[in-house]
Amino acid sequence: MPRKDSLAAAAAYFDAGGFFADLQRRVAFRTESDTGAATPALEAYLREEMIPPLVALGFACEVVANPVPGGGPFLIARRVEDPSLPTVMTYGHGDVVSGQDAHWEEGLAPWALTARGERWYGRGTADNKGQHSINLGGLAAALEARGGRLGYNVTWLVEMGEEAASPGLHAVCEQQRDKLRADLFIASDGPRVSAARPTLFLGSRGAVNFSLRLRARPRGYHSGNWGGVLVNPGTVVSHAVASLVDARGRILVEALRPPPVTQAVRNALASIAIGGGADDPEVDESWGEPGLSPAERLVAWNTIEVLALGAGSPQRPVNAIPSEAVAHCQLRFVVGTPWQDLRKIVRAHLDAHGFGQVEVEVTLTGAATRLDVENPWVGWARRSIEESSGQRLDLLPNLAGSLPNDVFADLLGLPTLWVPHSYPACAQHAPNEHLLAPLAREGLQIMAGLYWDLGEPGLAPWAAGRLAQSASTLS
Ligand SMILES: [Zn+2]
Repeated sequence: MPRKDSLAAAAAYFDAGGFFADLQRRVAFRTESDTGAATPALEAYLREEMIPPLVALGFACEVVANPVPGGGPFLIARRVEDPSLPTVMTYGHGDVVSGQDAHWEEGLAPWALTARGERWYGRGTADNKGQHSINLGGLAAALEARGGRLGYNVTWLVEMGEEAASPGLHAVCEQQRDKLRADLFIASDGPRVSAARPTLFLGSRGAVNFSLRLRARPRGYHSGNWGGVLVNPGTVVSHAVASLVDARGRILVEALRPPPVTQAVRNALASIAIGGGADDPEVDESWGEPGLSPAERLVAWNTIEVLALGAGSPQRPVNAIPSEAVAHCQLRFVVGTPWQDLRKIVRAHLDAHGFGQVEVEVTLTGAATRLDVENPWVGWARRSIEESSGQRLDLLPNLAGSLPNDVFADLLGLPTLWVPHSYPACAQHAPNEHLLAPLAREGLQIMAGLYWDLGEPGLAPWAAGRLAQSASTLS
């Protein structure tokens, strides 16, 4: 009976307009962080929108300055019922990408929450103000239903620089490691696989951007006078790329291929369809690793992509052998790939294939994470979410895209559960960003259910978090 009370309190908050009013005020803060400057709105958002409701729920709040100059502040909020109880940590970001004010549909604006049918428009509605507001509402509902006592501790970390590549996040988590000690991590960001059903994802793929470049000589030479006796950098770099990945997108460098897809991951992905949305491209069935389904290729495998190619002047070709050529490439990868050694691996591969003169430069890296799909927390969360929503959920072992989840999974050693409340067509990072009202209402109930279930004696597998933590301290 009382579990229902938790969900009912969350739905009542939505139905009475409380959630809309809270989100409306939050959207009005111009918390752009990708403009290169930390504006006063970033800290104001924490002080005026996050701290008061958290204090009302019994949290002790602390604003932590960013150790990286120009980076936005952090909020660490802790609600400790008893230090001997386990702790769940959550995370959200209050900063947004630039408003792109001039490009919204007639009658819409980034800083004014506007409801049109089921869509609630405004910058941050999907990414991430709407999502952490849902989690805050869900927590408040569970606390109300529990009569003010959850049976576990809660820590909130709110970042104000996620859209600027999270400057200082790693450093702050390292500095504040004791305050951030926890047993489980649950947060919300990104889209569901489909608006129709809840999604649970457990980590993300990582990415390494790298460039292959051949600088043959300081200038180009006439192809009639010199073609046939001068190395052509365009030809050589094309072949260097072709030695890494074949014409059907299959990775040819053994060390950059992921470990085999496990049966548990296959099972999780068996019911997940890729694409099919109104704006989605047609999936190319013959592209990528043979023998894998599209979901397996996207979520559970690695890919080498050519992001940009350059030689000569493609806009206006001339009859000359270009002086140099470059291919900007990217490896998207899953856990178990030795991505830290990418430069060394690619270097050795190129040397072995006769491309010793092609330079390799790594320009950007981000780790991959994935909680084991057989971790007891995964089954626990699935049961809770399916009970609250009355629907089967999509379990994604990891997002195909990237998130700074390694800070939580690797640095803090937490089992990470992500419960997104947005959907693929939400126009995240673009004009007309929006949240779907029915998903917000369902999301509030899902979170109220999770926060309720964490406090059910004997139901939540808290020991699994402790195990993950000690395993990561050992490694
Ligand atoms: Zn974003």
